[in-house]
Amino acid sequence: MRGIVYKSTGSWYTVKTENGAFINARIKGVLKLDDEIKSTNPIAVGDIVALEPESEVNNTATITDILPRNNYINRQSPRHKHQHHIIAANLSQSILVATLKEPKTSQGFIDRFLVASEMYHVTPVIVFNKTDLYGTKEKDKLHFLTDMYNTIGYKVLAVSVLKNEGIDELRAILTGKVTLLSGHSGVGKSSLLNTLLPHVSIRTQEVSGWSGKGMHTTTFAEMYDIEPGSSIIDTPGMRELGLVNISRQELSHYFIEMKPLINDCQFNNCIHINEPGCAVKAAVNNELIAIERFDSYLSILASIDEKKY
Ligand code: GDP
Ligand code: ZN
Repeated sequence: MRGIVYKSTGSWYTVKTENGAFINARIKGVLKLDDEIKSTNPIAVGDIVALEPESEVNNTATITDILPRNNYINRQSPRHKHQHHIIAANLSQSILVATLKEPKTSQGFIDRFLVASEMYHVTPVIVFNKTDLYGTKEKDKLHFLTDMYNTIGYKVLAVSVLKNEGIDELRAILTGKVTLLSGHSGVGKSSLLNTLLPHVSIRTQEVSGWSGKGMHTTTFAEMYDIEPGSSIIDTPGMRELGLVNISRQELSHYFIEMKPLINDCQFNNCIHINEPGCAVKAAVNNELIAIERFDSYLSILASIDEKKY
């Protein structure tokens, strides 16, 4: 029997089996794991597992195998630099809920999300929420950012969860996909989940005084079905996809408008700052690459600590 992991609660996993029923499953003995991934958790939400029934009375099963992952997102263990915690696996896309007011999501934050999504091989979508609050200034910004991201190939939606505007378009994007939800606290993720999933009650209040720092271990991802074949993974406490193990050299590979130009740079180790014959810099100068994106690139580049890897 096969199933998909919907939730992990320590040693037990909530798994949805092929016939659509939920079962509590655990690992017994040792699972053969991919040695390359030194993760602190063997199984994550979204994993497809093989099961053997354990007890019909208790509705339990044993996990006997994990199927190869199409992709997964992870984060670095705060204590052990070389250990990772896998947050979720087998994602079709990631949605960043962003806002231009109350609170403001910076473009730098959006670009980091896009880079992380590219790294993890997950298709990103940007969803601007709270459009009901936008005045002229925010509307201009929304048009500008929508244009800029559409031009390089990213999908952008504008919604107001409060006014129920744009929600049908958003639903359409979720159809048939496994979608990871992320975004700063306060942007409306819980409100959105409550709109999409009226039958489950999602916490709408973050724990007060919670800083979001150093709380990695309390992040429990959970998958919810919106309709058959469409599900969404919520990761409370994780507002950002981390940039794990990225080097300065490879950063431009994850800026999709820079990637096709990299081979045209004169030096093959070009990091596109001021090197002679740099095709990326030339494209910026010719306005083929948005200066705002290039600024994000430089700022992420500056934040990468090479010594760590
Ligand atoms: P989360 O931290 O991302 O889960 O955000 P919440 O869903 O808890 O929302 C934070 C606040 O924003 C709450 O007071 C919501 O009522 C409010 N909010 C959510 N969506 C909208 C919206 O579209 N417009 C407005 N004006 N407020 C919203
Ligand atoms: Zn270059």
